[in-house]
Amino acid sequence: MGRLRKHGLEEHEEPINNGLLFRHQDQEVESVTVDLSQLNEETKCPICFGKIKKARVSIVCGHRYCGDCIDHCMRLEIPGRRPEVRECPVCRAHMPSRRSAKEDPNFDFLLRALYGDVTEYEQQEEVVMQEELKQHQGALAQEMEHMRTTKAHQIAAAQAYRVTKKRRT
Ligand SMILES: [Zn+2]
Ligand SMILES: [Zn+2]
Repeated sequence: MGRLRKHGLEEHEEPINNGLLFRHQDQEVESVTVDLSQLNEETKCPICFGKIKKARVSIVCGHRYCGDCIDHCMRLEIPGRRPEVRECPVCRAHMPSRRSAKEDPNFDFLLRALYGDVTEYEQQEEVVMQEELKQHQGALAQEMEHMRTTKAHQIAAAQAYRVTKKRRT
């Protein structure tokens, strides 16, 4: 956290939505390019597939999850498994105790710097996705229509060709 603070990250609370270039307004700080798809992967909780909230990181294997998600997993009673046996839901590494997944405020901080309020960000993301889906469906419908008319053209052309061929013979 110390390093981030030094860079004055906490002053930029605006979510960065263009995603491709993560640049501080602070001129003294170098710009950092972030691969959005990789970033999405790394900020995604492997349990709920949402953005990681109240992050906890496994000290055994380094996997990260939402605090609530991993708590829930650890409380789960799995048939045939003794309740004191806990494991990472991702890689099944043995986690000796609940404290094996420790809080990770640095990660929360980073996510907040990147996305602003994570819950709000996810809602926005949902809206954007719906919008994209609609556009996609629209484009698909156009494409289908195009294919239909092209096909109709081809059939008509083929028929015309056959007709002229017949006449010639
Ligand atoms: Zn989660
Ligand atoms: Zn793991």
